[in-house]
Amino acid sequence: MKNQLKTAIYPGSFDPITFGHLDIIKRAAKLFDRFVVAVAHDTKKTTLFHIDERVRLAQLEIQKLHDIKNIEVKPFQGLLVNFVKSEGASVIARGLRGVSDFEYEFQMSYINHKLAPNTTTILFPATANTHYISSSSVKEIARLNGRLDGLVSTEIADELKRRFSEV
Ligand code: ADP
Repeated sequence: MKNQLKTAIYPGSFDPITFGHLDIIKRAAKLFDRFVVAVAHDTKKTTLFHIDERVRLAQLEIQKLHDIKNIEVKPFQGLLVNFVKSEGASVIARGLRGVSDFEYEFQMSYINHKLAPNTTTILFPATANTHYISSSSVKEIARLNGRLDGLVSTEIADELKRRFSEV
């Protein structure tokens, strides 16, 4: 398989994309030929942003990474492993913020492997600077009118402020 591009899929809700996600993206994308940030339509969580907005905001952040050219942002619907196959990928990338993420990620990696034995999940540990960031805490801070410096970009912070001023 020498000439085949190595593609990894980084799936998530990205509601919205944070500096925690971007830290994983920047480090992981370097290891693959193609790196697809896959924004899930179907998520167990109730999302603040519509799928189109989550994709647009992720694209906005990825466009700023001028020195990394192999990242794409795509929405996906249905089973992750079907999307992974349709993209010709064999790797699922996920981030690990701490032990609380571990059990869920470990179980999902088994399930995805069971559903698609040719796929492998690679877990990327968060860095000390970003491990505490989650989309849900960012939304909660925005809802309560707190400062979002160091958690999300100013553009994402503005979108959050706008969203919460509407409700
Ligand atoms: P999901 O709803 O699938 O968990 P998220 O958008 O919350 O989607 O997260 C997508 C992936 O990014 C998950 O693997 C999650 O653990 C990881 N992630 C989220 N925030 C961080 C962070 N601060 N550091 C490292 N990984 C993170």
